[in-house]
Amino acid sequence: MAGSKRGRWGAWALAALVGLTGAARAEPAAKDLFSAERHPSAAAPQSIGFYSKGCLAGGLEMPKDGPTWQVMKPSRDRAYAHPAMIALLQKLSRDAAREANWRGLLFGDMAQPRGGPMKDGHASHQIGLDADIYLTEMPNRRLSDAERDGMPLPSVIDKRTNRIDERRWRPEMLKLIRTAAEEPEVERIFVHPGIKEKLCKTAGRDRSWLNKVRPMYGHDYHFHVRISCQPGSTNCKEQESTGSGDGCDKLDWWFNVALQPPPPNAKPYKKPPPIFLSALPRACAAVLKQPDAGGARTLVAAPASEPEASARAVEPPPSAAAYSAPTPPAPVPDAGRLPMPRFRPGG
Ligand SMILES: [Zn+2]
Repeated sequence: MAGSKRGRWGAWALAALVGLTGAARAEPAAKDLFSAERHPSAAAPQSIGFYSKGCLAGGLEMPKDGPTWQVMKPSRDRAYAHPAMIALLQKLSRDAAREANWRGLLFGDMAQPRGGPMKDGHASHQIGLDADIYLTEMPNRRLSDAERDGMPLPSVIDKRTNRIDERRWRPEMLKLIRTAAEEPEVERIFVHPGIKEKLCKTAGRDRSWLNKVRPMYGHDYHFHVRISCQPGSTNCKEQESTGSGDGCDKLDWWFNVALQPPPPNAKPYKKPPPIFLSALPRACAAVLKQPDAGGARTLVAAPASEPEASARAVEPPPSAAAYSAPTPPAPVPDAGRLPMPRFRPGG
């Protein structure tokens, strides 16, 4: 009797265990949940978590066209960001036109409507404070959707040497990156080490802005602008400080080690396992449940085809100020660090 009772309990426990592990296995990857979201959430703007592990509440979409910008890759639907980032990018597009004689910015990926991990392309860009800007000047006409998705966006790096391709580099590109670095809100800019080297060699005497320009894999046909956690985002994790100095003395490792083919005995690059919702800050599950913000929450009130309307678009959003909390968030101890770059196939 006792034996058969134990047997029944055993079978139940086994079934429960199978059920539990089955449920765990069925948990969808966070990238699948967040990439399925088509609208920002109706909530006060909040960057939640870290740049590479978090999400975005109350995001705004960058209007497709402005007087000094166009949004590329519309099929990806990743032109969402914290309202402060949207305002900063629009301001940067005007400043670049003035300071770098750069007709307009071509924007690449920002974040998904509610941020979060993406199915492809980026580890960061998850909390609405990152944006890619192409090193290709906006043409003096409005691009079609097909052009925005398919237009070649050439690299400025010579792939054989990892140094700048002088045929493609223009002095205006230094002015453009310097203008971005000099925006007070900008905390970091990522560029290919070959671009950083070129900036180091040609910056001249005023070099303090170079501190924010950090070498990184990729980023040879675009640069990546990152702003700091914004007031009101109490769950946003600050990253470590960039310290001091122009960083121009720290490029050898990149050229001599990081960008070299991996040694034959190196472990093959393994893609990191997917992030599950349970590994993101708890507030991100709530962000997925928030109602849609609807389609009208952009900084442009009228279609950009009317020049009058798009000229108005560049004013900072009233919403950003309205949503700002009176006190900035306290710095989070043990802020997540930017992972040290590792060998990656193809750099
Ligand atoms: Zn990027």
